[in-house]
Amino acid sequence: MDVVVIGAGIVGTSAALTLAERGVGVVVAERGSVAGEASGLNAGLISAGGWGDQPTIDVVLEMGSRDRYLDLSENRGHDIGLDTTGTLTLIRTEEERDWAEASVAAARRVGRSFELLTSDELVDLEPSADPALLGAILDPLAARAEPVAATQAFAAEAASAGAVIKIRCPVTALRPRGDGGWDVEIAQDDQIDVLRADAVILAAGPWCAELGAMVGVEVPIVAVRGQMWASAPQPLVLRHAIAATESSLTWALQGPSNTSPPNLTHRLGQRVTRHLYGRQRPNGQFVFGGDRVLTTDRTIDHDGIAVNHGHTAELLPLVQKLPPARTWAGLMPFSVDGRPLLGPIPGREGLFLAGGLASAGFGRGPMTGQLIADLVLGREPEYDLASLAPIGRVVDADQAR
Ligand SMILES: Cc1cc2nc3c(=O)[nH]c(=O)nc-3n(C[C@H](O)[C@H](O)[C@H](O)COP(=O)(O)OP(=O)(O)OC[C@H]3O[C@@H](n4cnc5c(N)ncnc54)[C@H](O)[C@@H]3O)c2cc1C
Repeated sequence: MDVVVIGAGIVGTSAALTLAERGVGVVVAERGSVAGEASGLNAGLISAGGWGDQPTIDVVLEMGSRDRYLDLSENRGHDIGLDTTGTLTLIRTEEERDWAEASVAAARRVGRSFELLTSDELVDLEPSADPALLGAILDPLAARAEPVAATQAFAAEAASAGAVIKIRCPVTALRPRGDGGWDVEIAQDDQIDVLRADAVILAAGPWCAELGAMVGVEVPIVAVRGQMWASAPQPLVLRHAIAATESSLTWALQGPSNTSPPNLTHRLGQRVTRHLYGRQRPNGQFVFGGDRVLTTDRTIDHDGIAVNHGHTAELLPLVQKLPPARTWAGLMPFSVDGRPLLGPIPGREGLFLAGGLASAGFGRGPMTGQLIADLVLGREPEYDLASLAPIGRVVDADQAR
Protein backbone atom coordinates (compact mmCIF):
# COMPACT_ATOMS: atom_id res chain seq x y z
CA MET A 1 0.00 0.00 0.00
CA ASP A 2 1.20 3.55 -0.78
CA VAL A 3 -0.03 6.56 1.15
CA VAL A 4 0.56 10.27 0.51
CA VAL A 5 0.34 12.51 3.58
CA ILE A 6 -0.19 16.20 2.78
CA GLY A 7 1.46 18.43 5.38
CA ALA A 8 4.55 17.98 7.57
CA GLY A 9 3.16 19.47 10.76
CA ILE A 10 2.79 17.49 13.97
CA VAL A 11 -0.19 15.49 12.63
CA GLY A 12 1.33 14.59 9.26
CA THR A 13 4.75 13.62 10.62
CA SER A 14 3.22 11.46 13.35
CA ALA A 15 0.90 9.73 10.84
CA ALA A 16 3.89 9.11 8.55
CA LEU A 17 5.82 7.51 11.40
CA THR A 18 3.02 5.08 12.28
CA LEU A 19 2.40 4.16 8.64
CA ALA A 20 6.09 3.67 7.83
CA GLU A 21 6.59 1.51 10.92
CA ARG A 22 3.68 -0.67 9.77
CA GLY A 23 5.41 -1.33 6.47
CA VAL A 24 3.42 1.09 4.30
CA GLY A 25 5.09 3.15 1.54
CA VAL A 26 4.69 6.79 2.63
CA VAL A 27 5.46 10.09 0.95
CA VAL A 28 4.87 13.30 2.91
CA ALA A 29 4.34 16.28 0.58
CA GLU A 30 5.00 19.58 2.36
CA ARG A 31 4.61 22.99 0.72
CA GLY A 32 7.19 24.69 2.98
CA SER A 33 9.40 23.02 5.59
CA VAL A 34 8.87 20.49 8.38
CA ALA A 35 7.28 22.36 11.33
CA GLY A 36 7.18 25.54 9.24
CA GLU A 37 3.65 26.50 10.34
CA ALA A 38 1.71 26.25 13.63
CA SER A 39 3.44 23.02 14.63
CA GLY A 40 6.71 24.91 14.91
CA LEU A 41 5.33 28.27 16.10
CA ASN A 42 3.30 27.21 19.13
CA ALA A 43 3.95 27.55 22.86
CA GLY A 44 4.76 23.87 23.31
CA LEU A 45 2.19 23.15 26.04
CA ILE A 46 0.89 19.58 26.27
CA SER A 47 -2.26 19.20 28.40
CA ALA A 48 -2.82 15.91 30.17
CA GLY A 49 -5.09 15.42 33.23
CA GLY A 50 -4.83 11.62 33.25
CA TRP A 51 -6.82 8.94 31.40
CA GLY A 52 -9.66 8.88 33.95
CA ASP A 53 -12.33 6.16 34.09
CA GLN A 54 -14.05 6.71 30.72
CA PRO A 55 -11.69 8.51 28.33
CA THR A 56 -13.44 10.81 25.87
CA ILE A 57 -11.84 11.43 22.48
CA ASP A 58 -10.19 14.60 23.84
CA VAL A 59 -8.62 12.60 26.66
CA VAL A 60 -7.44 9.91 24.22
CA LEU A 61 -5.83 12.53 21.97
CA GLU A 62 -4.15 14.33 24.89
CA MET A 63 -2.91 11.35 26.89
CA GLY A 64 -2.01 9.30 23.81
CA SER A 65 0.01 12.23 22.46
CA ARG A 66 1.77 12.69 25.78
CA ASP A 67 2.80 9.01 25.59
CA ARG A 68 4.15 9.55 22.08
CA TYR A 69 6.26 12.51 23.23
CA LEU A 70 7.60 10.41 26.12
CA ASP A 71 8.45 7.67 23.63
CA LEU A 72 10.35 10.14 21.41
CA SER A 73 12.31 11.46 24.34
CA GLU A 74 12.88 8.38 26.52
CA ASN A 75 12.97 5.45 24.10
CA ARG A 76 14.13 7.01 20.85
CA GLY A 77 16.65 9.44 22.37
CA HIS A 78 15.44 12.75 20.86
CA ASP A 79 16.20 15.93 22.77
CA ILE A 80 12.84 17.67 22.39
CA GLY A 81 13.07 19.66 25.64
CA LEU A 82 10.38 17.48 27.21
CA ASP A 83 9.49 18.59 30.73
CA THR A 84 6.69 16.94 32.71
CA THR A 85 6.56 19.30 35.70
CA GLY A 86 2.89 20.18 35.07
CA THR A 87 0.80 23.25 34.30
CA LEU A 88 -0.67 25.75 36.76
CA THR A 89 -3.81 27.63 35.71
CA LEU A 90 -3.86 30.69 37.93
CA ILE A 91 -6.99 31.99 39.69
CA ARG A 92 -7.42 35.71 40.27
CA THR A 93 -11.06 36.29 41.33
CA GLU A 94 -13.70 34.65 43.55
CA GLU A 95 -15.82 33.91 40.49
CA GLU A 96 -12.89 32.16 38.81
CA ARG A 97 -12.27 30.16 42.00
CA ASP A 98 -15.91 28.97 42.13
CA TRP A 99 -15.71 27.88 38.49
CA ALA A 100 -12.33 26.17 39.04
CA GLU A 101 -13.64 24.33 42.11
CA ALA A 102 -16.63 22.97 40.17
CA SER A 103 -14.48 21.99 37.15
CA VAL A 104 -11.85 20.20 39.22
CA ALA A 105 -14.55 18.36 41.23
CA ALA A 106 -16.27 17.23 37.99
CA ALA A 107 -12.96 16.01 36.51
CA ARG A 108 -12.01 14.14 39.68
CA ARG A 109 -15.40 12.39 39.76
CA VAL A 110 -14.41 10.67 36.49
CA GLY A 111 -10.99 9.75 37.83
CA ARG A 112 -8.89 12.54 36.34
CA SER A 113 -5.96 13.99 38.22
CA PHE A 114 -6.47 17.79 38.35
CA GLU A 115 -5.94 19.43 41.76
CA LEU A 116 -7.15 22.71 43.21
CA LEU A 117 -4.40 24.60 45.07
CA THR A 118 -4.77 27.35 47.67
CA SER A 119 -2.81 30.56 47.37
CA ASP A 120 -0.14 29.31 49.83
CA GLU A 121 0.17 25.97 48.03
CA LEU A 122 0.56 27.83 44.74
CA VAL A 123 3.34 30.10 46.01
CA ASP A 124 5.12 27.12 47.58
CA LEU A 125 5.13 25.35 44.21
CA GLU A 126 5.78 28.41 42.07
CA PRO A 127 7.40 31.26 44.05
CA SER A 128 7.18 33.62 41.04
CA ALA A 129 3.37 33.69 41.23
CA ASP A 130 1.75 36.79 42.78
CA PRO A 131 0.89 35.91 46.42
CA ALA A 132 -2.37 37.89 46.04
CA LEU A 133 -3.70 35.21 43.64
CA LEU A 134 -6.45 33.02 45.07
CA GLY A 135 -4.90 29.71 43.99
CA ALA A 136 -4.51 27.56 40.88
CA ILE A 137 -5.62 24.43 39.09
CA LEU A 138 -2.68 22.02 38.89
CA ASP A 139 -2.53 19.59 35.95
CA PRO A 140 0.28 17.50 37.43
CA LEU A 141 0.79 15.35 34.33
CA ALA A 142 0.88 18.22 31.83
CA ALA A 143 4.10 18.52 29.88
CA ARG A 144 5.79 20.85 27.45
CA ALA A 145 8.32 20.42 24.68
CA GLU A 146 10.15 22.40 22.02
CA PRO A 147 7.75 22.43 19.03
CA VAL A 148 10.26 22.52 16.15
CA ALA A 149 12.50 19.86 17.69
CA ALA A 150 9.55 17.58 18.48
CA THR A 151 7.95 17.82 15.02
CA GLN A 152 11.33 17.34 13.34
CA ALA A 153 11.95 14.31 15.56
CA PHE A 154 8.72 12.67 14.28
CA ALA A 155 9.82 13.44 10.72
CA ALA A 156 13.29 12.00 11.35
CA GLU A 157 11.85 8.82 12.88
CA ALA A 158 9.41 8.47 9.97
CA ALA A 159 12.29 8.90 7.48
CA SER A 160 14.40 6.27 9.23
CA ALA A 161 11.42 3.90 9.06
CA GLY A 162 11.31 4.46 5.27
CA ALA A 163 9.02 7.46 4.71
CA VAL A 164 10.04 10.00 2.06
CA ILE A 165 9.60 13.60 3.21
CA LYS A 166 9.41 16.04 0.31
CA ILE A 167 9.71 19.67 1.38
CA ARG A 168 8.97 22.72 -0.81
CA CYS A 169 6.50 20.53 -2.72
CA PRO A 170 3.02 22.06 -2.69
CA VAL A 171 0.17 19.77 -3.67
CA THR A 172 -1.55 21.52 -6.56
CA ALA A 173 -4.23 18.98 -7.56
CA LEU A 174 -5.85 15.74 -6.37
CA ARG A 175 -7.36 13.38 -8.93
CA PRO A 176 -9.19 10.09 -8.28
CA ARG A 177 -7.92 7.30 -10.54
CA GLY A 178 -11.11 5.28 -10.69
CA ASP A 179 -9.58 2.22 -8.97
CA GLY A 180 -10.06 3.75 -5.50
CA GLY A 181 -6.58 5.33 -5.63
CA TRP A 182 -5.49 8.93 -6.13
CA ASP A 183 -3.02 10.88 -8.26
CA VAL A 184 -1.48 13.66 -6.20
CA GLU A 185 0.02 16.44 -8.27
CA ILE A 186 2.97 18.27 -6.70
CA ALA A 187 5.01 21.21 -7.94
CA GLN A 188 8.70 20.51 -7.42
CA ASP A 189 11.67 22.49 -8.76
CA ASP A 190 9.52 24.28 -11.36
CA GLN A 191 8.06 21.06 -12.67
CA ILE A 192 4.90 19.10 -11.98
CA ASP A 193 5.19 15.53 -10.71
CA VAL A 194 2.45 13.04 -9.93
CA LEU A 195 2.53 10.75 -6.89
CA ARG A 196 0.36 7.62 -7.08
CA ALA A 197 -1.38 6.70 -3.83
CA ASP A 198 -3.84 4.10 -2.59
CA ALA A 199 -4.86 6.56 0.12
CA VAL A 200 -4.27 10.25 0.84
CA ILE A 201 -4.32 11.94 4.25
CA LEU A 202 -5.08 15.66 4.40
CA ALA A 203 -3.00 16.87 7.37
CA ALA A 204 -2.60 20.42 6.11
CA GLY A 205 -3.79 22.37 9.16
CA PRO A 206 -6.02 25.32 8.19
CA TRP A 207 -5.32 24.60 4.51
CA CYS A 208 -7.32 21.33 4.65
CA ALA A 209 -10.26 23.44 3.45
CA GLU A 210 -8.33 24.46 0.27
CA LEU A 211 -7.43 20.83 -0.43
CA GLY A 212 -11.01 19.71 0.16
CA ALA A 213 -12.18 22.32 -2.34
CA MET A 214 -9.92 20.67 -4.98
CA VAL A 215 -12.18 17.61 -4.81
CA GLY A 216 -15.52 19.32 -4.26
CA VAL A 217 -15.68 18.78 -0.50
CA GLU A 218 -16.38 21.50 2.03
CA VAL A 219 -14.06 20.90 4.98
CA PRO A 220 -15.28 22.84 8.03
CA ILE A 221 -11.88 24.13 9.17
CA VAL A 222 -10.99 27.82 9.38
CA ALA A 223 -7.80 29.70 10.23
CA VAL A 224 -7.46 31.47 13.57
CA ARG A 225 -4.43 33.66 14.23
CA GLY A 226 -2.52 32.99 17.44
CA GLN A 227 0.30 35.31 18.46
CA MET A 228 3.10 35.16 21.01
CA TRP A 229 5.96 37.15 22.47
CA ALA A 230 9.30 36.07 23.93
CA SER A 231 11.57 37.87 26.40
CA ALA A 232 15.34 37.87 26.25
CA PRO A 233 16.82 34.79 28.02
CA GLN A 234 16.63 34.96 31.85
CA PRO A 235 17.94 32.76 34.65
CA LEU A 236 15.65 29.72 35.00
CA VAL A 237 13.04 30.46 37.69
CA LEU A 238 9.63 29.34 36.37
CA ARG A 239 9.13 25.64 37.07
CA HIS A 240 5.64 25.08 35.60
CA ALA A 241 3.88 26.00 32.42
CA ILE A 242 1.39 28.77 33.23
CA ALA A 243 -2.15 29.55 32.12
CA ALA A 244 -4.96 31.79 33.42
CA THR A 245 -8.55 30.91 34.36
CA GLU A 246 -10.09 34.15 33.07
CA SER A 247 -10.87 32.99 29.52
CA SER A 248 -12.18 29.54 30.54
CA LEU A 249 -14.74 31.20 32.78
CA THR A 250 -15.77 33.69 30.06
CA TRP A 251 -16.17 30.93 27.47
CA ALA A 252 -18.13 28.72 29.89
CA LEU A 253 -20.56 31.59 30.59
CA GLN A 254 -20.72 32.77 26.97
CA GLY A 255 -21.84 29.59 25.20
CA PRO A 256 -21.40 28.90 21.47
CA SER A 257 -21.48 31.58 18.77
CA ASN A 258 -23.32 31.44 15.43
CA THR A 259 -20.63 33.48 13.71
CA SER A 260 -17.33 31.91 14.78
CA PRO A 261 -15.75 28.80 16.31
CA PRO A 262 -15.80 28.57 20.11
CA ASN A 263 -13.11 29.81 22.49
CA LEU A 264 -11.82 32.85 20.60
CA THR A 265 -10.64 35.99 22.39
CA HIS A 266 -12.34 38.27 19.85
CA ARG A 267 -15.81 38.23 18.32
CA LEU A 268 -16.81 40.54 15.48
CA GLY A 269 -13.59 42.52 15.96
CA GLN A 270 -14.11 43.12 19.70
CA ARG A 271 -12.14 41.56 22.55
CA VAL A 272 -14.37 39.35 24.73
CA THR A 273 -11.72 37.98 27.08
CA ARG A 274 -8.01 37.76 27.84
CA HIS A 275 -6.49 34.33 27.30
CA LEU A 276 -3.01 33.41 28.50
CA TYR A 277 -0.60 30.48 28.39
CA GLY A 278 3.16 30.12 28.31
CA ARG A 279 6.32 28.89 29.94
CA GLN A 280 10.00 29.56 30.39
CA ARG A 281 11.95 27.73 27.70
CA PRO A 282 15.08 25.73 28.57
CA ASN A 283 17.10 28.60 26.97
CA GLY A 284 15.65 30.99 29.58
CA GLN A 285 13.21 32.91 27.34
CA PHE A 286 9.74 33.56 28.74
CA VAL A 287 7.27 32.75 25.92
CA PHE A 288 3.63 33.72 26.36
CA GLY A 289 0.62 34.31 24.16
CA GLY A 290 -3.10 33.95 24.08
CA ASP A 291 -5.07 36.00 21.54
CA ARG A 292 -7.13 33.96 19.04
CA VAL A 293 -8.64 35.94 16.20
CA LEU A 294 -10.60 34.55 13.24
CA THR A 295 -8.43 35.72 10.32
CA THR A 296 -5.81 34.50 7.85
CA ASP A 297 -3.89 37.76 8.34
CA ARG A 298 -0.67 37.03 10.25
CA THR A 299 0.15 40.67 10.94
CA ILE A 300 0.92 41.03 14.65
CA ASP A 301 -1.62 42.99 16.68
CA HIS A 302 0.76 44.88 18.98
CA ASP A 303 -2.06 46.11 21.22
CA GLY A 304 -2.98 42.45 21.76
CA ILE A 305 0.65 41.65 22.66
CA ALA A 306 0.59 44.53 25.20
CA VAL A 307 -2.66 43.18 26.74
CA ASN A 308 -1.17 39.68 27.00
CA HIS A 309 2.11 40.97 28.46
CA GLY A 310 0.19 43.04 31.02
CA HIS A 311 -1.95 40.02 31.94
CA THR A 312 1.17 37.86 32.41
CA ALA A 313 2.78 40.54 34.60
CA GLU A 314 -0.38 40.69 36.79
CA LEU A 315 0.03 36.98 37.54
CA LEU A 316 3.84 36.75 37.53
CA PRO A 317 5.13 40.15 38.76
CA LEU A 318 8.72 39.50 37.60
CA VAL A 319 7.44 39.77 34.00
CA GLN A 320 6.90 43.54 34.51
CA LYS A 321 10.66 43.91 33.92
CA LEU A 322 10.78 41.56 30.91
CA PRO A 323 9.61 43.37 27.77
CA PRO A 324 8.86 41.38 24.62
CA ALA A 325 12.08 41.00 22.63
CA ARG A 326 10.41 39.14 19.75
CA THR A 327 6.83 38.54 18.55
CA TRP A 328 5.35 36.09 16.03
CA ALA A 329 2.04 34.76 14.78
CA GLY A 330 0.77 31.51 13.29
CA LEU A 331 -2.49 30.09 12.00
CA MET A 332 -4.39 27.51 14.05
CA PRO A 333 -6.79 25.05 12.36
CA PHE A 334 -10.15 25.52 14.12
CA SER A 335 -13.08 23.34 13.18
CA VAL A 336 -16.26 25.39 13.16
CA ASP A 337 -17.71 23.61 16.20
CA GLY A 338 -14.38 23.16 17.99
CA ARG A 339 -14.26 19.34 17.75
CA PRO A 340 -11.38 17.51 16.04
CA LEU A 341 -11.94 16.05 12.56
CA LEU A 342 -10.49 12.60 12.01
CA GLY A 343 -11.55 9.91 9.56
CA PRO A 344 -12.46 9.04 5.96
CA ILE A 345 -14.07 11.78 3.85
CA PRO A 346 -17.56 10.60 2.87
CA GLY A 347 -18.07 10.10 -0.88
CA ARG A 348 -14.33 10.25 -1.62
CA GLU A 349 -12.97 6.72 -1.22
CA GLY A 350 -9.33 6.62 -0.14
CA LEU A 351 -9.27 10.25 1.05
CA PHE A 352 -8.85 10.90 4.79
CA LEU A 353 -8.83 14.01 6.95
CA ALA A 354 -6.90 14.64 10.18
CA GLY A 355 -7.20 18.15 11.53
CA GLY A 356 -9.20 20.83 13.24
CA LEU A 357 -7.09 20.50 16.39
CA ALA A 358 -7.45 24.22 17.04
CA SER A 359 -5.38 25.76 19.84
CA ALA A 360 -4.40 22.40 21.34
CA GLY A 361 -2.96 20.60 18.32
CA PHE A 362 0.59 20.34 19.57
CA GLY A 363 -0.70 18.47 22.59
CA ARG A 364 -3.13 16.33 20.55
CA GLY A 365 -1.39 15.96 17.17
CA PRO A 366 0.81 12.89 17.78
CA MET A 367 -2.14 10.68 18.73
CA THR A 368 -4.27 12.15 15.93
CA GLY A 369 -1.56 11.04 13.50
CA GLN A 370 -1.45 7.54 14.97
CA LEU A 371 -5.25 7.14 14.89
CA ILE A 372 -5.61 8.35 11.30
CA ALA A 373 -2.87 5.93 10.23
CA ASP A 374 -4.83 3.08 11.85
CA LEU A 375 -8.03 4.15 10.11
CA VAL A 376 -6.26 4.26 6.73
CA LEU A 377 -5.00 0.73 7.33
CA GLY A 378 -8.55 -0.41 8.16
CA ARG A 379 -7.62 -1.29 11.73
CA GLU A 380 -10.47 -1.26 14.24
CA PRO A 381 -9.85 1.88 16.37
CA GLU A 382 -8.98 1.04 19.98
CA TYR A 383 -11.08 3.98 21.13
CA ASP A 384 -14.63 5.22 20.62
CA LEU A 385 -14.40 7.88 17.90
CA ALA A 386 -18.15 8.55 17.81
CA SER A 387 -17.91 12.03 19.33
CA LEU A 388 -15.70 13.39 16.53
CA ALA A 389 -17.07 16.18 14.36
CA PRO A 390 -18.54 15.33 10.92
CA ILE A 391 -15.67 15.21 8.47
CA GLY A 392 -16.84 17.18 5.48
CA ARG A 393 -19.69 17.76 3.07
CA VAL A 394 -19.63 17.04 -0.64
CA VAL A 395 -20.57 20.30 -2.33
CA ASP A 396 -19.62 19.44 -5.90
CA ALA A 397 -20.76 15.96 -6.79
CA ASP A 398 -19.22 16.10 -10.29
CA GLN A 399 -15.75 16.84 -9.05
CA ALA A 400 -13.41 14.00 -8.12
CA ARG A 401 -15.67 11.19 -9.33
C1 LIG B 1 0.87 30.95 18.39
C2 LIG B 1 0.34 29.56 18.60
C3 LIG B 1 0.45 28.97 19.86
C4 LIG B 1 -0.04 27.66 20.07
N1 LIG B 1 0.19 27.05 21.28
C5 LIG B 1 -0.15 25.75 21.44
C6 LIG B 1 0.20 25.06 22.63
O1 LIG B 1 0.87 25.57 23.52
N2 LIG B 1 -0.22 23.78 22.78
C7 LIG B 1 -0.92 23.13 21.80
O2 LIG B 1 -1.29 21.97 22.01
N3 LIG B 1 -1.21 23.74 20.63
C8 LIG B 1 -0.84 25.03 20.42
N4 LIG B 1 -1.12 25.67 19.24
C9 LIG B 1 -1.90 24.95 18.21
C10 LIG B 1 -1.04 23.95 17.43
O3 LIG B 1 0.18 24.54 17.07
C11 LIG B 1 -1.80 23.48 16.17
O4 LIG B 1 -3.09 23.03 16.50
C12 LIG B 1 -1.06 22.32 15.49
O5 LIG B 1 0.31 22.62 15.32
C13 LIG B 1 -1.70 21.96 14.15
O6 LIG B 1 -0.91 20.97 13.55
P1 LIG B 1 -1.21 20.45 12.09
O7 LIG B 1 -0.20 19.41 11.79
O8 LIG B 1 -2.66 20.08 12.00
O9 LIG B 1 -1.06 21.73 11.15
P2 LIG B 1 0.20 22.63 10.69
O10 LIG B 1 1.24 22.72 11.72
O11 LIG B 1 -0.40 23.90 10.19
O12 LIG B 1 0.80 21.80 9.48
C14 LIG B 1 0.15 21.73 8.24
C15 LIG B 1 1.20 21.72 7.14
O13 LIG B 1 0.54 21.54 5.88
C16 LIG B 1 1.28 22.26 4.91
N5 LIG B 1 0.45 22.49 3.72
C17 LIG B 1 -0.65 23.30 3.62
N6 LIG B 1 -1.14 23.27 2.36
C18 LIG B 1 -0.34 22.42 1.64
C19 LIG B 1 -0.34 21.98 0.29
N7 LIG B 1 -1.24 22.40 -0.61
N8 LIG B 1 0.64 21.12 -0.09
C20 LIG B 1 1.57 20.66 0.79
N9 LIG B 1 1.60 21.07 2.10
C21 LIG B 1 0.65 21.93 2.53
C22 LIG B 1 1.67 23.55 5.63
O14 LIG B 1 2.75 24.18 5.00
C23 LIG B 1 1.97 23.03 7.04
O15 LIG B 1 3.35 22.77 7.22
C24 LIG B 1 -0.65 26.96 19.00
C25 LIG B 1 -0.74 27.54 17.73
C26 LIG B 1 -0.24 28.83 17.52
C27 LIG B 1 -0.33 29.45 16.15
